[in-house]
Amino acid sequence: MIYPIRPCVHLYMELRWNPVAAEWVVVSAKRKERPILERESCPFCPGSSEIPDGDWDVLVLENKFPSLTMEPPEPDQEAMLPYKVKPSYGACLVVIYSPDHSLHLGRMPTSHIEKIVGAWSGLMERFSSDTKVKYVLVFENRGKEMGVTIEHPHGQVYAFPFIPPIIRREMEVSRHYFTEHKCCLFCDVVKAEISARSRLVYQNRSFISFIPFAPKMPYGVSIYPRRHVADLLGLNAVERHDLSESIRQVVARLDDLFKREMPYSMVLHQQPTDRSSSDFYHFHVEFFPKYRERDKLKFLAGVELGAGTVTYDYLPEEKAAELREVR
Ligand SMILES: [Zn+2]
Ligand SMILES: [Zn+2]
Ligand SMILES: [Zn+2]
Repeated sequence: MIYPIRPCVHLYMELRWNPVAAEWVVVSAKRKERPILERESCPFCPGSSEIPDGDWDVLVLENKFPSLTMEPPEPDQEAMLPYKVKPSYGACLVVIYSPDHSLHLGRMPTSHIEKIVGAWSGLMERFSSDTKVKYVLVFENRGKEMGVTIEHPHGQVYAFPFIPPIIRREMEVSRHYFTEHKCCLFCDVVKAEISARSRLVYQNRSFISFIPFAPKMPYGVSIYPRRHVADLLGLNAVERHDLSESIRQVVARLDDLFKREMPYSMVLHQQPTDRSSSDFYHFHVEFFPKYRERDKLKFLAGVELGAGTVTYDYLPEEKAAELREVR
């Protein structure tokens, strides 16, 4: 069930171009009023004023404080070289996973995660027909360590008017690899991981879940489809089921290993909405779990933030074995 997207006008919102990094920054000045964690009056539980009446399994709402909107104001700032500005066109949606306040992805039945995958696919389809939307980013932040203010299980979907830099870089790299090797980079990663085995965490007939050869985070599991498929809309029914089961398995294993709900960001990487990159780009899911040991958070600091270089103080194969053997 999708609740209609309401227009939202902020006091201040625009996209500003960072000419040094060559990337857009989404600027909006109304996010201070975000709600705080509160069990008593969960805005996502049935009965709340935020939630429309009626039965629902998975609910899509507009973020109450969106930084991208379908009717953005004109930018306030003058564009003077080397800067650029443009309106914050797009959408910030919330996907409430279920009416149940405590049913997170690691615990819910696979058949219910399939409904969430269906909602994500529906949004990809909807925004693919809007030529001003260039990219649909599906993600979940979980846990207060990730800045989440509402604990009711939910994810988010941003419809961007540009291709975000990490995706852009993956596209450049995989396009180049495709030209050079006449095959998909990600398909070659799947082959390498299946043959190495040591970094596999979980596999089923359509997907493998593994800690990458050179990971970004200590428990940063990736989920790749075995078949070459570039976005959510390319998945068949069996693959939607197997993706759902893979997500459930990865979250449950992180939780089991840490004996707590592991705070994380989960991000789906798919081709841009024009769907013209399906030769060389390959759908996948990346997890960014926040803990590196039971009682130690992983912080990004100078080397990561200032140089973009990951330092990994563990053996990826050992981290994969821990997650593989935990259940
Ligand atoms: Zn709730
Ligand atoms: Zn591929
Ligand atoms: Zn990726």
